[in-house]
Amino acid sequence: MWQRQVGVPGHTGRDARADRRRRSNASPAPAPRPGERLTSDAVSALQGSAGNAAVARMLRPARPSTVPVPVQRLRSDDEEESDDEGQPAQQPQQQAPAPNPNQVRAGITTLVDNPPMVNYGARRQGRAHGEFWMRFARSKQGEEAEETLSETSALLFDSMKGAQEQAREEDPEHTAEDSNNREVQGMLINGRLVFASNYNSSIDTLVERGRHEVGAEPTFGELLEFEQSDAALTRGLREHEAENVRAKLASFRRKNRAIVTGQRGEGEQQRGPDATAMALRAKMDSPVIVVDVEDPDLHGMLTDEEHEGRVFLLRFAALDPRAKKTGKNKGQQTQEGSVHAEQKLLLALRRAGIRPRRDVRGPISVMGKYRPCMGCAAALMYYRERLDFTNLTFDENYGHYFQGSVDSLYEHQRHVMDAHYLEYIRQMVAEDITSTPAMAHEAAPQGAVHRRGGPSLRVPGAYASRQADVTPPTSDAEFDEDDTYRRITRPLTDTWTTETASAGIGKGSATHTIPRRRHERLTPEQQTELRELWNGRPGEPPTNASRRQAIELADRYNARDQMTFEYLAKVVALHPDRFNGYVARFRDRGHWKHVPTRSKKVETGPKNRKKGAVEKQFTKGGELDQEGMDTIRAVIESLGDDAWCRDWRRADDGRSTGELNATKAPDALLRTLAELRRDHHYSVPSLSKYLHTGANGDKLRKAIQRKGEKLLARREQSETPMRTEDIEMEDAAPIKTEEAEGAEDFEMDDEPWSVPAGFAGGSSSSMTLPHRPGPSIGIGEAGSSSGTSYRDRPREIGGYTLHVDPRTGQATYIDEDTGYEYVHVDGRMVRIDRGEDEDVEMGGSRGRR
Ligand SMILES: [Zn+2]
Repeated sequence: MWQRQVGVPGHTGRDARADRRRRSNASPAPAPRPGERLTSDAVSALQGSAGNAAVARMLRPARPSTVPVPVQRLRSDDEEESDDEGQPAQQPQQQAPAPNPNQVRAGITTLVDNPPMVNYGARRQGRAHGEFWMRFARSKQGEEAEETLSETSALLFDSMKGAQEQAREEDPEHTAEDSNNREVQGMLINGRLVFASNYNSSIDTLVERGRHEVGAEPTFGELLEFEQSDAALTRGLREHEAENVRAKLASFRRKNRAIVTGQRGEGEQQRGPDATAMALRAKMDSPVIVVDVEDPDLHGMLTDEEHEGRVFLLRFAALDPRAKKTGKNKGQQTQEGSVHAEQKLLLALRRAGIRPRRDVRGPISVMGKYRPCMGCAAALMYYRERLDFTNLTFDENYGHYFQGSVDSLYEHQRHVMDAHYLEYIRQMVAEDITSTPAMAHEAAPQGAVHRRGGPSLRVPGAYASRQADVTPPTSDAEFDEDDTYRRITRPLTDTWTTETASAGIGKGSATHTIPRRRHERLTPEQQTELRELWNGRPGEPPTNASRRQAIELADRYNARDQMTFEYLAKVVALHPDRFNGYVARFRDRGHWKHVPTRSKKVETGPKNRKKGAVEKQFTKGGELDQEGMDTIRAVIESLGDDAWCRDWRRADDGRSTGELNATKAPDALLRTLAELRRDHHYSVPSLSKYLHTGANGDKLRKAIQRKGEKLLARREQSETPMRTEDIEMEDAAPIKTEEAEGAEDFEMDDEPWSVPAGFAGGSSSSMTLPHRPGPSIGIGEAGSSSGTSYRDRPREIGGYTLHVDPRTGQATYIDEDTGYEYVHVDGRMVRIDRGEDEDVEMGGSRGRR
C-alpha cells in the first residue's frame, strides 16, 4: 500500500524521496482497474479525464457504506499548491457532493468496525488486523535522520517520565496529569527539531524540573539527563519486554553520546549523513524553546536561519485544563486534553502557515518512539500527497487504529477529513495489515520475507507487541577507552521457534504451524499458582473451578504472553499437546458443560489415531519401523515394572549397555514379536537391535520361534479373547461397563483431570501400570478365564475414542485432541507411551521429531 511496492528498500529514506519525486514528475498514471490501488496521480488523471463519477467509483470503500464518496479536487488553503496538478475545473454536471467530515468519519467507522479489523484489549489497544507484519531489526541505511529522530524521541520520552517521577516523589499528593503520556514524536524541519508529546504537561513538568536542576533555562542535553528509574521504566512490563526496553534505551543513549561528542552525524563509518544528528549538534548550548502551535512567531521559528539547530518543545494551549464556565461545576478545572503527537506537529505546520514549496528547505521528517497509528499515518499521508509536503518522510508501517486519533483530527484539522483521507484509511484496512515490532535482539526466523526495507513475518494478532515502537535498528554504538565511538551491528539472537498448535476442536486433527517466541517465562509465583490450580496442594485436591482457572490462565499466558505449551504444560506436568487441547477446546466453546453421551457401539478402530494404528501396522516389512517400535514399546509399557522391561528401559535410555537375555523376555512381548514378524516381516536383527538382545538376533529368533509363535498360535486358536497368559498385559483395562453417568461436566470432573501428573507427563520411565492380579479384562466379575466372550463392553469416555482389540479385548482410549492412547485403570486414564516424548523426556536419543 502507500502507492509503493512491497519490498522497495529505504521507503522512508532518500530513496523513497527520490522515488516520490520521480513519480510526481511522471506523466499522469493510467487509470487503475477497479479494485486496483488508487494513487493520487491516478486520482488526478481520472479527474482530468473521466470526471468525478469515475473517481467516486474507484474510491468506493471495499465494503458497502452509506457514505457517498465522490472526490472533489482538494483545494488547499496554501495558495500556491492549489493548482499543482494543473487540472481543469470540474464539470459541474458530474460533480457529486463531496463527503463532509461527518460522512468521512462515519465511513471510517464502517471500515474499522468490520472485518478484517479486530478489537484488541476491548479496544484499549485499539483496533487492528487479525494478523500483523512483525518487523524485525533492520539496517536504517539511507534513513539516518529518521533513525536518530525516532531514537531521540524515545530518549525524550524517558526524560519526561523521569521528570514526572521526580515531581511525584517530591509531592506525592500531586497527581501527574501526564501519567497517560504515551508518546513523543519529533519533526526535522529546516535543520531544526520540534518535539511533541500527547500532553502539554509532560513538557511543562520536564522543563520545570530542568530549570530547577540547572538554575537556568535548560538545554536539550540537560533535559535528556532526566531518566526514569528502572522500576518505573519496567512497571507493568513482562520480563522480556523490560529487557527489550532497557536494551533499546541504553543503545539510543550510546548513539546520542556519539552525536553530542561530535562523532556521529556527518556521515561516518559507512553511515550516510544524518540531518537530525547535525541539528542536535548545532547549538547544544542553547536552551530549548517551548512554543505553542498558535504562537504568531511560529512561522519564523520554523523557517528562519536564526533558529536553525534549535530544539523546540511544542505545546497546544487548547488542550490545557481550564475553568468550566457554566454548569454545576462552574469554576472547576477541566481535564487536560491530549492529541497524538504527530497531529500536534502537523498542526504546527498548519497553524504556522508553512507553505511546503516556499518554506521548507531540505528534508522534512516526522518520526517518533512509536510508529504512527492509522489515523495519524493517514494524516501524514494526506500532508504529503494532498498538501504538497512531497519530501515528508514518516513511518509508513502504521500501527493500530485508535478512534481518538480520528476524533481529534476531526476536532482540530477537519480540512483533512475528505474522501482522500477516507481512501487512505480504506487502503490501510483493506489492502495491507497492521505492523508491529519484533524485539530489538530478535533475529528474523525462517519464513520471514523482505518487505519495505527489512525482514517481516506475518504473525497472528496474539503476538503483536504491546509497545508499538518503530522497527528496531540493527546498528549500535560502542566506545573504546579513549571514548572513541565505533559503529557496530548488534548481534541478533534466534528467539523464534515454530510450534504446531491445535486449530481448535472439531475435526480434531486439524493443526497449523505458527511462529513463536521460545523464551517467555512465568515468575516463580505464577508457576506455583498455575501448578496448584491444576494439581492441587497437599490436602487440597484440585477442583473443577480451580482447573478452569488454570485453563484460563494458560490461555492468557499462551495467547497474550506467547508462552508455548511445551513450557506451560511442564509446569502442570501434562503433555503439551494435551494441555494445548484443553485450552483449544476452552477457546472454541468456553468452559464446556456438556459432553453428549457417545454411541455404545464399540469401535473397532480408532478415528484419530495417527501412529501405531493396528490396521496400519500390517503394511510394512523389512527394517523395524516407527510403528513397530511403537507397538513394542506399548507392550513393554503395559507390562509395568516387570524386571526385564525395566532393564530394557535402562538400556534404551542409554543408562546401561549390557545385552538383554532374549529368552527371558516376557511372554506377551515374545508373542507380539511373533505377530510382528508374521504380519510385517520385520527382520529379526532389527528387532533385536531395538530390544538390545544382540546384534545378529540369533537368540531373539530362537525365543520368538520357541515361545512367541506358540503363544501366538494358542491365542489365535481360541475364541476366547482372554487367556491366562494374557493377564499381565490386559489387566490394565476396565473390568466392566459403568454407567456413563455424569455426562455433565464429565471431562472437567472426571477422567482427563484425574491423570496423575507423573503419568500424564508422558515419561516412559515414570509410566508404571499397576501390575497385579485383576481387575481382569472384559470378562465379568469373576475374572475367569473360562472362555466366555466378554459380555460387558468397556465404557465410553467423552473426548476419547474407544478402541477394543477384537482379538485380545484390550480396551484403549485415543484422545481425540492429541491422538494419544490411554488405558483406564481404577478410574484413571493412564497414557501408553509410544515414544512420542522422547526429546522432551529422554534427550531426543531417538529423535522422532
Ligand atoms: Zn496517532
